[in-house]
Amino acid sequence: MVEIEKFDYENSYEASLRPSRWDEYIGQEKIKKNLRVFIQASKKRDEALDHVLFFGPPGLGKTTLAYLIATEMESSIKVTAAPMIEKSGDLAAILTNLEEGDILFIDEIHRLSPAIEEILYPAMEDYRLDIIIGSGPAAQTIKLDLPRFTLIGATTRAGMISNPLRERFGMHFRMQFYESKELAKIVQQAAQKLDKPCDADAALEIARRSRGTPRIALRLLRRVRDFAEVENEALIHLDRTKFALDQLGVNEEGFDELDIKLLQLLIEARGKPLGLSTIGAALSEDEGTIEDVIEPYLLANGYIERTARGRIATPKTYEHFKLTPRLQGGL
Ligand code: ATP
Repeated sequence: MVEIEKFDYENSYEASLRPSRWDEYIGQEKIKKNLRVFIQASKKRDEALDHVLFFGPPGLGKTTLAYLIATEMESSIKVTAAPMIEKSGDLAAILTNLEEGDILFIDEIHRLSPAIEEILYPAMEDYRLDIIIGSGPAAQTIKLDLPRFTLIGATTRAGMISNPLRERFGMHFRMQFYESKELAKIVQQAAQKLDKPCDADAALEIARRSRGTPRIALRLLRRVRDFAEVENEALIHLDRTKFALDQLGVNEEGFDELDIKLLQLLIEARGKPLGLSTIGAALSEDEGTIEDVIEPYLLANGYIERTARGRIATPKTYEHFKLTPRLQGGL
């Protein structure tokens, strides 16, 4: 039987900062507003909430939203990830252990195998589990009723979810990168929780260098806090923050080493579009990581463009590196 993964959130830094109330969940206003309407409606009708699919790059708050939905629905939440569900029996064990109104959160849902997806369809649609026992002509299907539950799926790769699975989710939400001022609020809120208040301009500095991502902002806050602590400073201020982030090599734009390598590669290609496999080989990085983790922020902020033939650098990138575009075959 598969163990539903029990993350040790109590002891983890991220978990201690995870918003437990809607008002602590900053940004993603449209998603929050819609979700709260649907939650209210399903509570009024005394029905399980329709299945929800979140997609977007890592660290933008998908898991946190799932926990908030569970709190608002006054339901328990079971958390697992697709790679942990290898056999049909694994999923059957999870589903039969659910109780009425429970939330099942499956992270990386695009990684479910087709065989497992097949089992999920009737479970999502009719709260029914069809188990096939035996094989060949003697095979028998046993049907089991399941409690009404809500599946929340999260994925970094919307394009890799099969259509039949996607269609069975009643709600689809695409997570957006955060504005700097939203991230600054997240940083200040977290700093308060850590008992290490942070100046507004220091929080904004961390926010600007966090690639629009709360997880990165919280990680940087942790490091800046270390610098402030060593200097016996009760408050995190702008000068210490700038010093710490510079020491850590975090660029003004928040680019990390891989962002810079990718942008430099595209600049060196002088306008020739580069395919994902070429980029992956040059950066010694998995293509999935490039597509899910590195590219989305650069695309959303206009640093790269995706054409039918591959990726190219934009004028904004040349500007960032203080270069003039020299296109292939050009002057
Ligand atoms: P992954 O795809 O890697 O599972 P995720 O999208 O599920 O990531 P979370 O784990 O929910 O991201 O968020 C990362 C951390 O950032 C959380 O610990 C949470 O504290 C914080 N966080 C995320 N979004 C928000 C927000 N909108 N307001 C405040 N804190 C947030």
